[in-house]
Amino acid sequence: MSILTKIFGDPSKKFFSDLSKIAESIDSLEEDIKKLSDDELKNKTLEFKQELSQGKNLDDILLESFAVVREAAKRTLNQRHFNSQLLGGLILHQGKIAEMKTGEGKTLTSTLPIYLNALSGKGVHVVTVNDYLSRRDVVWMGQIYNFLGLSVGCINHDTSFLYDPHHTNLDEERDELGSFRVVHEFLKPCTRREAYEADITYGTNNEFGFDYLRDGMAYGEEQVVQAKGFNYAIVDEIDSILIDEARTPLIISAPDEESADLYKIFASIVPKLKEEEDYEVDEKQKAISVTDEGIEKVEKILGVENIYTEKGIKYVHHLNQALRARAIFSKDKDYVVRKGEIVIVDEFTGRLTPGRRWSEGLHQAIEAKENVEIQKESKTLASITFQNYFRMYEKLSGMTGTAYTSAEEFHKVYKLDVYEVPTNKPLVRKDEQDLVYATEEGKLKAVAREIKERNKVGQPVLVGTVSISKNEYLSALLKKEGIKHHVLNAKQHEDEGEIIAQAGKKGRVTVATNMAGRGVDVSLGGNPSTQEEKIFVKDSGGLYVIGTERHEARRIDNQLRGRSGRQGDPGESRFFVSLEDELMRIFGSDKIKNMMSTLGVPEDQPIENKLVSKAISSAQSKIEGINFDARKHLLKYDDVMNKQREKIYKLRRSVLFSKGKEIEEIAKDILKDDEEGLKKMESKKELFPKENFYNTIKNILLRVIDMLWVGHLEEMDYMRSSVGLRAYGNQDPLVEYKNEGIRLFKTLENSIGATFSKLISNVIPADNQTPQPIEAFESGVNSNLNKKNVGRNEPCPCGSGKKYKKCHGK
Ligand code: ADP
Repeated sequence: MSILTKIFGDPSKKFFSDLSKIAESIDSLEEDIKKLSDDELKNKTLEFKQELSQGKNLDDILLESFAVVREAAKRTLNQRHFNSQLLGGLILHQGKIAEMKTGEGKTLTSTLPIYLNALSGKGVHVVTVNDYLSRRDVVWMGQIYNFLGLSVGCINHDTSFLYDPHHTNLDEERDELGSFRVVHEFLKPCTRREAYEADITYGTNNEFGFDYLRDGMAYGEEQVVQAKGFNYAIVDEIDSILIDEARTPLIISAPDEESADLYKIFASIVPKLKEEEDYEVDEKQKAISVTDEGIEKVEKILGVENIYTEKGIKYVHHLNQALRARAIFSKDKDYVVRKGEIVIVDEFTGRLTPGRRWSEGLHQAIEAKENVEIQKESKTLASITFQNYFRMYEKLSGMTGTAYTSAEEFHKVYKLDVYEVPTNKPLVRKDEQDLVYATEEGKLKAVAREIKERNKVGQPVLVGTVSISKNEYLSALLKKEGIKHHVLNAKQHEDEGEIIAQAGKKGRVTVATNMAGRGVDVSLGGNPSTQEEKIFVKDSGGLYVIGTERHEARRIDNQLRGRSGRQGDPGESRFFVSLEDELMRIFGSDKIKNMMSTLGVPEDQPIENKLVSKAISSAQSKIEGINFDARKHLLKYDDVMNKQREKIYKLRRSVLFSKGKEIEEIAKDILKDDEEGLKKMESKKELFPKENFYNTIKNILLRVIDMLWVGHLEEMDYMRSSVGLRAYGNQDPLVEYKNEGIRLFKTLENSIGATFSKLISNVIPADNQTPQPIEAFESGVNSNLNKKNVGRNEPCPCGSGKKYKKCHGK
C-alpha cells in the first residue's frame, strides 16, 4: 500500500462507493417510473430535451434518464440493467474507460450514457469492432432508442441504415463473420449523411475515420457527412483500437508510377549478404543495421561509389526494406501468400487483413522477396491515425474486458482513466499456474495429452495459439491422437462466429488463433443449448481454456482467459509455456535454461516454479514497456503531422463552407502579402457574374490546397526517412523532424498563396464552375488555365468536365 493510499484511502474504492450511491438513487426512482404508461415514458424524452433547452445540463437529468432507459429496456427487451451495468454506464458518461469482463453485457450498459448524451442533439458515435456488430447492436438496442423517440443510424462499409421497426425486408447473405445471417430487417437503407444526422450513429472505427478523411476531400458542402462534428464517442473494445491498431494509420491513396524494378534488384541482392558480417538484426526493435562491409558489398554490386548521397538515399531505403523483408518478416507468421498477393496477418488477432498494406515500401519489398507481382506504390491523399481521430471528440469513453494492464498508457496518452467494474456475479473461473517445458515440442505434446484427458470426460476445451503455423502444427498432433476438433485460424474464418459460439458444447475441442471471434459470446452447452447439456458441461467443469504460449501483452492473455467463466459460470484456464517460445527466447533469462538442464528435467515434463513465473511476467512487462515507448514515440512524430492536418483542414473547411462574399475575405487573407495578386483579383471580379466569381475562387482554392497538401504529405514522408538516417550524427531525429516539418509547412503555406495568386491572375470566366476532385486538376495547375498546354479535345483544366475547346478554349 502506498503512503498516499494509507492517508487518503484507496481512490478507486472511494470512486466506486460514490458511484454506488448514485446507482442507489437511480434504483429508488424505479417504483415511480414503473407506473408510467408507455406514452408517458416516451414523453420523458421531450421533457428532458425541454429541460436542457432551459439551461439544465446533462448531469442534472442523469438519475431520471438512466431510470427511464432501464425501464424502456425492461419493456422492449425484457432485460433490466444490472446494478453493475449502472456503474459501467456512469463511468462511460464521465468520459472514462469501463473495464467489464466478457459476458457482463457491455452492449446494454452503453445504452444508458448513449441515450443521455444523445438528448443534447449533438450526436453520439458508438464504435464497434466490425460491421456485423454495428448492425446487430442497432437492431437490438434500436428497440430501446426507438421506443423513447430517438433515431439511430448505422454506417457500414458500403451501405448506411436507419433503424426502422416497419422495415421488414429480410435479406440473407453471408457476413465477414461467417454464418451469421445479416439482418436487414428493421434496417432501412439511407444516405451516409442521414445516418450521421440521426441522434445516435453506430459504425466501425474504420468507417468513422475514413468518413472524416473523405469529408476533408469534399468539393461541395452537401458531400460532407460528419456535419455535426465530434461530440461524444463510446468505443467498444477500446484497447484493440487505441493500442493494438494504433500503429496502423488510415490512408486514402491513389496509385503512383514508381517502377517495380528497384524492389526486384534489392530482393536479389540481399540473399548475398550475411547476417552479423554484413548486417545485424535487432529482433526486439524489428530493425536492421547494415555494417560498413555490407554497404561496401552493396555499392560494388550496384556499381555506385557512395550510396549515402542525396540520390542514394533511395537505395539505402530500398536496401533497408529488402533486408527487413528477408530477415524479420516470415511467411505464414507475419503474412501469407494468397492468390499471388501478400496478405498481412494481424499480430494480435492472428486474422488475415486483406487490403491492408505495410507502408514505406516494405510491402513491395516482401512482394519482391516472394516473387509475386509488385503492386504499384501509391500516393497518400489523406491519412490519420486512430489516436488522433478519437482525440478530436469533446468527450471520449470506452469499454472492454481488458484495459487494466494498460491503464498507464490510457492515462498518459489519452487522459483516459480505467475503472474495473465488479462483475454482476462472482467470478469462479480457476486461473491455474503456468506449466513450463524445456522445449516447444515437449510442450505441445503435453497440451495434446491434456486435451485428450479433458475430452474423455466431455469437457469443452478452447485452445488459443499465437500463429497460424502453430495452430496447424497442433491440429496435426491432435489428429494423430485421434481427437476430433475444430480449427479456426485466419486462413479459414468463414464460420468464425459460429464456431466460437459453439465452443462451449459438450466434448468440443476448438483450436483458434488468439482472439478469433472477438465479441462473440460462448455459452455453456452451445447455442442454443438444452438444459440437460448445459448442466452436463457445468458439472464437467465448464469451459477449459488453454493458452499455448504467452503473448507479448498480458492484456491479450486475459482476453483469451475471459472466454471462460462468464456470468458466474464454472471454468478453468492455464498457459503452457516453453523456454523456446519467442517471448522466453528473447527476454527470458538464461538462468532458467541452465537450471532446467542441471536438474535434468525431461522435455515433456513441466516445472511449476516461482522463479520461472516471475521471469515470464517480467518479460511481459518489459515488452509492454518497449511497445508502449514505441507507440509513444510514433505518436510524437504523428503529432507534428496532426497539427498541420488540423490547420489545413480548418482552412479547407472555411473555404468549403463559405457563403457568397465570405470567400473573398479568405482569399484576401491568403494573398495579404501580395498586393499585385490582390489588384488582379479585384480586376477579375468585373469579368464575372458575382456568384460565378465566388464559385471560381472557391473551386481554385480547394484544388490548390489539395494538390499542394498531397505533395506535402509525400515530402514529409520522405523527410522522415531521411532524418532517420541523419541520426548517425548526434542529432535527435524527432527534433530534426519537427524543425524540418515546420520549415516544409511554411513552404506549403507560401506555395498555396503563390499558386493561387498565379491561377487567379490567369482565370477567365466559364459558364459552369462545378467543382471537381483533385485528379482532374493535376494537369491543370501548372498550365494556369492558359491555352498553351491543353489539347483542344482534352478536358478543360478549369474542372468543368467539358472539353477544352467547348469551355475556356472557345
Ligand atoms: P459483452 O459484450 O460484455 O461480452 P454482451 O453485451 O454481448 O456482453 O451480452 C452478453 C449476454 O448477456 C447477451 O446475451 C445479453 O443479452 C445478456 N445480457 C446483458 N445484460 C443483461 C441483463 N441486464 N439481463 C439479462 N441479460 C443480459
